Amino acid sequence: AEDMEYRLRTGQVVDESIYPVVPHMRSEESRLHTFSTWPLTAPVSPCDLAQAGLYYLGQCDQVQCFCCGGTLADWEIGDSAWAEHSKHFPFCFFILGHDVGNIPFQG
Ligand SMILES: [Zn+2]
Repeated sequence: AEDMEYRLRTGQVVDESIYPVVPHMRSEESRLHTFSTWPLTAPVSPCDLAQAGLYYLGQCDQVQCFCCGGTLADWEIGDSAWAEHSKHFPFCFFILGHDVGNIPFQG
């Protein structure tokens, strides 16, 4: 993986498969902003969801990953954003820890 990342940085190889599906949601802060209408009854917090690469699609409790494009909904009490994301989309490059351009929240 390191070798591939190096070559991508230097522009020798363009492997679009590691690029995020929704590039404008790479920033955790941007993702957090999408949760302004997040239902207060949902058992998972916007902070946890945004941190797990997810942003709100604006309907019910549907969220999407900026990286793999996978969508999750029907959150239940006890669910963890990161655990559900990795359970349903185990090959997501963000979940796998690749450098997909995520910009963590700076507070
Ligand atoms: Zn994902």
